[in-house]
Amino acid sequence: MISVEEALERILGEIHPLPPTQVPLAEAAGLVLAEDVVAREDMPPFANSAMDGFALRSQDSQPRAGQPPRLRVTGGVAAGYVADHAVEEGTAMRIMTGAPVPPGADAVIQVELTRYDGPQSSWVEILQPVAAGTNIRPAGEDMRSGQTILPQGTEIGPWEIGILATLGLAMVPVIRRPQVAILGTGDEVIDVDQPLQPGKIRNSNSYLLEAASARAGARPVRLGVARDTAESLREKFGQALGSDLIITSGGVSVGDFDLVKNIMAEQGEINFWRINMRPGKPVAFGHIGRTPLLGLPGNPVSAAVTFELFGRPVLRKMLGHTRLQRPQVEVIVEDGVADKAMRRHYVRAHVQWRAGRFVAHTTGNQGSHIMTSLLNANALVIVPEGGVEIPPGGKAQAMMLDWPEI
Ligand code: AMP
Ligand code: MG
Repeated sequence: MISVEEALERILGEIHPLPPTQVPLAEAAGLVLAEDVVAREDMPPFANSAMDGFALRSQDSQPRAGQPPRLRVTGGVAAGYVADHAVEEGTAMRIMTGAPVPPGADAVIQVELTRYDGPQSSWVEILQPVAAGTNIRPAGEDMRSGQTILPQGTEIGPWEIGILATLGLAMVPVIRRPQVAILGTGDEVIDVDQPLQPGKIRNSNSYLLEAASARAGARPVRLGVARDTAESLREKFGQALGSDLIITSGGVSVGDFDLVKNIMAEQGEINFWRINMRPGKPVAFGHIGRTPLLGLPGNPVSAAVTFELFGRPVLRKMLGHTRLQRPQVEVIVEDGVADKAMRRHYVRAHVQWRAGRFVAHTTGNQGSHIMTSLLNANALVIVPEGGVEIPPGGKAQAMMLDWPEI
């Protein structure tokens, strides 16, 4: 049995970022940039007004004999249009926010600091002097042509999408999403739309893992459930070979019908099997042909927890992310953890910030078949290996499942 850390290291050592592709801008959120993005134009592309007001020559704004100067208004320029004449001495032009500053003008005075006679006024009085450059947003102030704006490896979020749109990238070079084949195993496992029959249970794992994979950024494909026979597993694995990753649940323990390992050994190789943790000791990792296979336990809670610890980092690494692991914080375990486990114990808990510290409440019965122990859990309290007990109010590390990876 290997440690959680060794298992993760051995798994990630076999996983590499996928090749780049191009996706439409609207589909790029959550993906990782495969190339540097360099500005091809200045942003803003032209000097423009930051205010609704009047474009003028700043020297014309100085008071004359203690009186506000009165300038002749020669026209206007709206956002989206270009002035057809210049601002000359003693004149001004109406201008709207975002409109290009007309030639000749070196400042914009905001409308609130002027007096004029309605929208068609032929004159404007300047109530306060303005310095050159006032309310003008120069070309290239934000981004310069040739400048690297977003380096390769950047995770694309809504703000990056806005920048990519500004730069005109209708298609974005990204690391593509991994396709993950999800396979249930077990003669007892029936689909969710089936009525229960004696001895049967519904396939919760495949749906749980599908949703968790999608949330991690992958494209999951459910392959149904393999029977507990070598032929059935071989057939299902055959269907999975075009995928970037196969995730199975069940069939990796020590029972007579736990055949996933056998087929892995037959059609590829087993890297390791069994991790010193609870829930989720029977985790196997290896390859079927060249496709990596992560064999998760059958118990739904074990499958859920081991996906978070191993499956999600694998998918993130394939997606080109460099931050792969959830952050850990020290928490006060209000109710403690009494049942001592020799293996490292990941206890589902709800953690919240209260009175200046993080406080954890465990979610009740921690049996690996108790699916309701996942409800309301946003963290895993980590109880070290070796039969450690955490008294009520004691301290522990918790892995925060709803915080972004670091
Ligand atoms: P196994 O490792 O195949 O012996 O499975 C361990 C436990 O998980 C058994 O109680 C199985 O019935 C259960 N199990 C296996 N696969 C699933 C599944 N897809 N959905 C829900 N429970 C499952
Ligand atoms: Mg089974």
